[in-house]
Amino acid sequence: MINRRSPSELEKLRKSGLLVYEVLKTLSGMVGEGVTTQDLEVAAEKMIRDAGARAAFKGYYVPAAGTKFPYVLCTSVNNEIIHGMPSARRALKKGDIVKIDTGVELNGYFGDSAVTVPVGEIGDSLRKLLRVTQESLEMAIAQARAGNRLADISGTVEKHVVSNGFSVVREFVGHGIGTKLHEEPQVPNYVDRQHENPRLKEGMVLAIEPMVNEGKPGSKVLKDKWTAVTTDGKCSAHFEHMVAITADGPWVLTRP
Ligand code: MG
Ligand code: MG
Repeated sequence: MINRRSPSELEKLRKSGLLVYEVLKTLSGMVGEGVTTQDLEVAAEKMIRDAGARAAFKGYYVPAAGTKFPYVLCTSVNNEIIHGMPSARRALKKGDIVKIDTGVELNGYFGDSAVTVPVGEIGDSLRKLLRVTQESLEMAIAQARAGNRLADISGTVEKHVVSNGFSVVREFVGHGIGTKLHEEPQVPNYVDRQHENPRLKEGMVLAIEPMVNEGKPGSKVLKDKWTAVTTDGKCSAHFEHMVAITADGPWVLTRP
């Protein structure tokens, strides 16, 4: 069942969404040569605690990994797609791209968003990868309207990505979000007739999150049980927003 949220619930999700926005904005400003992903983790943990919220990723159990995720952030560099773990040994270098993904729980309602941040100047191909990924998210958000179907979102991402010569990751998907971090439905970044294709209705809240590979679509999970990397070693980009479907159209909860 896909939950539909009342206006007062949407306001709570909005508060969580804006906190995630503030955290990601601060961390994006910190990114630079020599900064470690652990530096970002420490800053995020403090901001979330100071806001009276709980870090939603820390301690989150995923059956496929068989363990609880130990950090506030997922920090994934270059060929790491998602679920990378912050480390004091991972200093960012000029030309890297770092994906920062985080979630919070505030008053029982969750927020979840992700950005990909360049470290200094990056090459043309990576610049295009980030632009196309971000564009695919914006185009998908525009499809988050009552009366459309889920595949309108998925298909919009897939079409824009593929027509620009990149590929979408298939093993990881977006999701509904509300009083749990991950709720129904799954929100894939590609269309497959095996997926359910529900009609979108007012009050639904979706975390739309294109994960786009520079090269082939394949991914594999490292021995740490979490970090997903591209199988061809090329880079991957990730942007995510939480979007409420309202009578007035899509409402992006994770930006002002
Ligand atoms: Mg996320
Ligand atoms: Mg998410």
